[in-house]
Amino acid sequence: MTSEHADTFIDTSKPHPARVYDWLLGGKDNYLVDQEMAEKLPPEARANAQRNRAFMRRAAAWLAHSGIRQFLDIGTGIPTAPNLHQIVQEIAPEARIVYADNDPIVLRHAEALLVSSPEGATRYIQADVRRPEDILERARAFLDFTSPVALSLIALMHFITDDEDPYALTRTLVEALPSGSYLVLSHGTTDEHPELAESVTDTYKAGRVPLRMRRRAEVERFFDGLELVDPGLVTATHWYKDSPAPKEELSGFYVGVARVP
Ligand code: SAH
Repeated sequence: MTSEHADTFIDTSKPHPARVYDWLLGGKDNYLVDQEMAEKLPPEARANAQRNRAFMRRAAAWLAHSGIRQFLDIGTGIPTAPNLHQIVQEIAPEARIVYADNDPIVLRHAEALLVSSPEGATRYIQADVRRPEDILERARAFLDFTSPVALSLIALMHFITDDEDPYALTRTLVEALPSGSYLVLSHGTTDEHPELAESVTDTYKAGRVPLRMRRRAEVERFFDGLELVDPGLVTATHWYKDSPAPKEELSGFYVGVARVP
C-alpha cells in the first residue's frame, strides 16, 4: 500500500474502531475481524454503544433547540440513522454540519451524511483529529467561525493516547470557536467496572487499536476553561435536560456539554 492509497484503503486484516462500534450498534458495515474483536468485549459493550449514541441524539437536539446552527462533528463513525444532521435539521432545517473521520470506511459510506435538508448543508471531510489545524482550515470553507459552532467529539478521545496529548488537540479546536459555542464530548471509562479495565484495553490492544479509557477527573480536564451546562459531567444515561434520567445506571461513558465563555 502506498501512502497515496492509505487514505482510502479498507484494511480488513485488523479491526477498526468505526467498524467495531458499528457492529456493537447492530450495523452491517463491518468485517469478521471487527466482529471477532467486538465479541471479546464485555457483554455490556453493545448496550453502552447504544447509550452513547442516545446521548448524542439528546445533546444534538438540545443544542439545536438552544439556537446552535453550525456543527463540527469529529469522529463521526459509520452513518447510523438518525445521524447528527438529521436530528438537528429536523429542528432547524437551515443548520450546517461538517463531519470528519479518519477511517476510509466512513468515507465510503459518507453519502448518507450528505443528504442535507435543502435549506442547510452537510459536508464530509476525511481528516484526523491529531491534525486539528487541518480540520479547522477545511471546516472554515463551510462554517462561519464568527458565529457559534458546536464541536462534537463523541466517543473519540479514548482513541487518542496520552503521548498524542488529547487535551492540547481539544484546546486547539475549542480556541477556534467564538463565545457562545459548545463542546459536546463523550469518553469511554471503566470507572463503573474497574475490574474490566484491563480486559477491555487488552482486547483493543490485541486488535492493534490503542485505547485509553480515562477516569472521571481525566475526562473533566477536557472541559477546562468551559462552562459545563446542567447536569454537568455525568455518565451517558444521566444526561437529560427536561425529563428525569431513567434508573438505568451504567453506560461506560462520561459525557458533558459545555459552553465557550
Ligand atoms: N461519534 C460517533 C462514532 C464513534 S466511534 C458516535 O459516538 O456515535 C469513533 C469514531 O472515531 C470512529 O469512526 C473512528 O474512525 C473515529 N476516529 C478514531 N480515531 C480518529 C482520529 N484520530 N481522527 C478522526 N477520527 C477518528
